[in-house]
Amino acid sequence: MPMPSEPLLALDGGPPVLPRGSLPSTNDAAGRTIGPEEEAAVLRVLRSGMLSGVWGTEVKALQAEFAEMMGSAHAVACSSGTAALHLAVAAVDPAPGQEIIVPPISDMGSVLPVIAQNAVPVFADLDPVTGCLDPEDVRRRITSRTRAILVVHLFGGAARVRELREIADEAGVLLIEDCAQAYLARERPGDPVVGTIGHLGCFSLQQTKHITTGDGGLVITDDAKLARAMRLFADKAWPRDTGERTYLSFALNYRMPELSGAVARVQLTRLQAVVDRRRRHAHHLSAALAQLPGLTTPAPAGIHAYWYYPLLVDGLDHAGLRRFAAALGAEGVPCVAGYIARPLYQEPVLREPTAYGGSGYPIRGRIDYPDGECPVAEALVSERLLAVPWNENYTDEQVDAMAEAIDKVHRAVVPA
Ligand SMILES: *Cc1c(COP(=O)(O)O)cnc(C)c1O
Repeated sequence: MPMPSEPLLALDGGPPVLPRGSLPSTNDAAGRTIGPEEEAAVLRVLRSGMLSGVWGTEVKALQAEFAEMMGSAHAVACSSGTAALHLAVAAVDPAPGQEIIVPPISDMGSVLPVIAQNAVPVFADLDPVTGCLDPEDVRRRITSRTRAILVVHLFGGAARVRELREIADEAGVLLIEDCAQAYLARERPGDPVVGTIGHLGCFSLQQTKHITTGDGGLVITDDAKLARAMRLFADKAWPRDTGERTYLSFALNYRMPELSGAVARVQLTRLQAVVDRRRRHAHHLSAALAQLPGLTTPAPAGIHAYWYYPLLVDGLDHAGLRRFAAALGAEGVPCVAGYIARPLYQEPVLREPTAYGGSGYPIRGRIDYPDGECPVAEALVSERLLAVPWNENYTDEQVDAMAEAIDKVHRAVVPA
């Protein structure tokens, strides 16, 4: 119970630390970094009359600029982060029923492309601190049917991706990095950025990501064959370079429009500063929370990209974690208990699969996803993980107030 001298939680009728809704969010202009340069880019494209990336110049320039910035040989633009992952999985080209190892905490966009290509998602458990794939568990899940490992750099914190690359190389499979939340993250200071350690690195330009065109995606690779396979898969396998109207293989239309390409090019020029500002605020919050017992803050020093600020709490159960998140929300600090409702393998799309004429192919009858499949992930979602949306436009005062709110809620909610 809170001591009488302790401030009453806003949840229980006390005054909130921050006025509700006062923090900038990625759903409003205050929480997005968009300026007159984006406006000029949109007008430039409209006035040119060419709105298609197939014949325009903007999407092509974006691909060159993104590849250059990441230090990759090739970049392929597309219509979303999910599309980017679908391009990557299509480039891996699994045979029906082959397996791709995936993590249970992510956006479902990480997993749906596996099913779309008739491959089976196999879930491996997570590192209890980073929430990213545990390389040891990945190793245990590799079989003769494995074709790829798909790793997510959760919230902007890098996975142990060098070890995963070694495991992939030993097994003779490809490594796909889902970097939708992790622009410019690194496993260690001085390392190359994530997305360049694996064979394929996938990014999203969706509304809530570090940089945005509303929707959009990019994939990077050093492999010219994979790059060509992805370009074809995004464009009905119509090879634009030969001039012939022919359709070379199975593919869809995942093309990025020229307007998005033009906006993305400007957003790209803002990326480093966006990440730097997010880091500075996050380090400030981590320092302010350092004394709170039973709280784990993200790994320190210059490597995390802070899409969200993940906080791990000890000593709570399922209801306690939800009370913590609700209490923090009432103090004016949005927070999602567990980040997702349940590990992805417990979602209906995997537990009760109905794709392909109700057959549930390629999952039903081939693989079960029982509770307990990934105990670390289940504990994170149920009772340990708090995901606080992060933003480059928070002020120092707001970050101080967030620390105060977390301290206030922690005292009241976590048993001593
Ligand atoms: C956002 C996101 C996706 C999907 O990206 P969309 O652009 O929304 O399709 C995939 N993986 C992760 C980790 C994401 O955060």
